[in-house]
Amino acid sequence: MSQSADRSPGATCPAMRHHGGMASGNVRPCPSCGTRNRVPLSAAGRPRCAKCKADLPWVVDAGDGDLAAALDTSRLVLIDLWAPWCGPCRMVAPVLEALATKYAGELKVVKVNVDEAPVAAGRFQAQSIPTLVVMKDGAVVERVVGAQPEPVLDRLVAASLTR
Ligand SMILES: [Zn+2]
Repeated sequence: MSQSADRSPGATCPAMRHHGGMASGNVRPCPSCGTRNRVPLSAAGRPRCAKCKADLPWVVDAGDGDLAAALDTSRLVLIDLWAPWCGPCRMVAPVLEALATKYAGELKVVKVNVDEAPVAAGRFQAQSIPTLVVMKDGAVVERVVGAQPEPVLDRLVAASLTR
């Protein structure tokens, strides 16, 4: 597979600079037992449920200040460059949640609001959003522009995990 070829684009929004703050906590229920766990921005291994020890879906929000920490993991990373006003981004968000759950323990989803992270948006060339960037061992291995259906993104993650 080529290093950085864009996939056929789905629905996108031009990345504009709006301002509307958005904060989301990283306390999430365990898919196995329902216990609410705090999922860290970064960790040496992978987050597991404090009660039943199941792997937790690892979804974090990062900005320019903490992106390096968020990417410092040996898990496969899927960066979601998005913005609150972007309709296609909202379509992709639940798909990424589902993949984070399916691939818990193997995949880390790092959500970057491009409005609040201009440096990251530039680094990953997020002219249109959503832009999804898959990183493995610190290198970009896949890049997808536009909303894609779950089977497409599932195959992308599965292929990236085994390459
Ligand atoms: Zn649990």
